[in-house]
Amino acid sequence: MSVLASSATTTWQRRALEVMPGGVNSPVRAFKAVGGEPLYIESGHGSSLKTTEGVELVDFIASWGAQILGHAHPAVVEAVRDAAARGTSFGVSTTAEIEFAELICELVPSVEVVRVVNSGTEATASVVRLARAVTERQGLIKFEGCYHGHADSFLVRAGSGLATFGEPSSPGVPAGTFAATRVARYNDLGSVEALLDEGVAAIIVEPVAGNMGCVPPEPGFLDGLRGLCDDAGALLIFDEVMTGFRVALGGAQAHYDVTPDLTALGKVVAGGTPGAAYGGRAEFMRSIAPEGPVYQAGTLAGNPLVTSAGLATLRYLASDPALYRRFDEAGHRIEEGLSGAMSRAGVPGLVNHIGGMVGVFLGVEQVRSWDEVSGVDQDLFARFFRAALERGVLLPPSAFETWFMMETHLDDDLDYVIDALADAIGAAA
Ligand SMILES: *Cc1c(COP(=O)(O)O)cnc(C)c1O
Repeated sequence: MSVLASSATTTWQRRALEVMPGGVNSPVRAFKAVGGEPLYIESGHGSSLKTTEGVELVDFIASWGAQILGHAHPAVVEAVRDAAARGTSFGVSTTAEIEFAELICELVPSVEVVRVVNSGTEATASVVRLARAVTERQGLIKFEGCYHGHADSFLVRAGSGLATFGEPSSPGVPAGTFAATRVARYNDLGSVEALLDEGVAAIIVEPVAGNMGCVPPEPGFLDGLRGLCDDAGALLIFDEVMTGFRVALGGAQAHYDVTPDLTALGKVVAGGTPGAAYGGRAEFMRSIAPEGPVYQAGTLAGNPLVTSAGLATLRYLASDPALYRRFDEAGHRIEEGLSGAMSRAGVPGLVNHIGGMVGVFLGVEQVRSWDEVSGVDQDLFARFFRAALERGVLLPPSAFETWFMMETHLDDDLDYVIDALADAIGAAA
């Protein structure tokens, strides 16, 4: 990343390190896995970012998927500007919140009633509290390699063995919290069955795993989870914080036609502002305060910045039914271009894609679950990342992250970007 760093950025980094842990507000921004040199963004328009050094980059981070129309999309900018001029938060209801909730319920098949919150972490934590309350059970099954935000119950990983009871992956998590969390293997129904009993309140899953690269569910996996939950009296929770409005307008549940009981939404739903939501079957959602006893609240929840950006984004997406097919076509072109470059370079690997998500895995032949994904060649990826950056393409700075497409990538010269990435694979190998 030396093309970007100058003494000026180094000064900023020194100042950042003084006053923020690791110099950042979210760990992945430190770029530690790929070399750790700082990158500070001045502005973004469409799929292009401009750094404080004046370097223009084609952006595949897209605010970790939150941006789907491209940065500073005129429809979103206008809506937010208009809302901000009328006041950014009141702590009293606005009618935009009602329109926002109505649109979410209309677009996401299983969501009958919805509550807007401030972050994906808050959505998943709230949804698990609700599942525990309505089932009067404590246990939670999650999958290794799936991320559901940083609430205590989710900060566990599998120990040795494919499916096991959790151990904390962060200090500071109380023993009682993670003891209730059991960790299964993605795409492996047997590993779930082995953990499922009368004590399990819910199974939470990313219906397309996106936090270990892009790993789609195998045929029958999501349906199988639905059946297991029904048999055990547990709830099925889809964490669609990443996949909602990104793999299809109605999310992964629409694409795969599987109906969860509860759904967490984030990222795209708020159009690049700090908002998220959770919802599902009315009979469960009506247990949330003030209608029911399950407490959950938020001073800034559903504020006008979030509802305006969210409404503008979702309305735009709903008006363009061909968009997700165009994402799929672009994903196919990226897959062809990069697979070709990998075989020319003698690098094993594969490219997955679905809707606006792309997963590029270097050094492995197959990725169905974390134990396979964890075999990727991280050093090769770091070289690839830097080679891509030198060619003007900003990839997510980790071998385990999904790449995100925005609508503007489809209008740009995608062939140019694919050629640059193919060239970067050759240079890295
Ligand atoms: C990003 C993400 C979260 C956490 O959302 P935040 O807004 O970062 O708190 C939860 N679940 C999934 C699947 C995510 O991708």
